[in-house]
Amino acid sequence: MRIGFGFDSHRLVEGRKLILSGVEIPYPEGLVGHSDGDVVLHAVCDALLGAAGLGDIGEHFPDTSAAFAGARSSLFLERSLEMLRDAGLRPSSLDITIIADAPKLQQWKAAMRKNLARMLGMEEQRISVKAKTAEALALSSGAVIAQAVVLVEEPSDVGRR
Ligand code: MG
Repeated sequence: MRIGFGFDSHRLVEGRKLILSGVEIPYPEGLVGHSDGDVVLHAVCDALLGAAGLGDIGEHFPDTSAAFAGARSSLFLERSLEMLRDAGLRPSSLDITIIADAPKLQQWKAAMRKNLARMLGMEEQRISVKAKTAEALALSSGAVIAQAVVLVEEPSDVGRR
């Protein structure tokens, strides 16, 4: 088994779609970013790459590259998963915390979990999506923060089950 951790934060601004875990959430503001700004998928990609010792999202999908301007972050996830597969690894457990004072995300947790399970090819039971506010700390005012921890299996783990 290997463990990986990912963190990301993006600012909310008017005139952008709000995409979290690949799910479009109706809200008058969205996240600033070179891509679609999906802070959750960015944290998940960094957790996966970290577990595999394969660097970070900025290295593989630079925000200076025109190829990734306006890109769906699900593309980054697909490519990160491919890199893991090539290294003989696969995610077996994922735990996410999203921190935002607004919008309230409780009602979207189930949809995000389902979408992550589909994209990652994992059972929903092995994925957790938690949502918190920062309780009036300036931390998440006008921003969304995501943290992800992933457990990754190596082929030798599968034989041990
Ligand atoms: Mg990011």
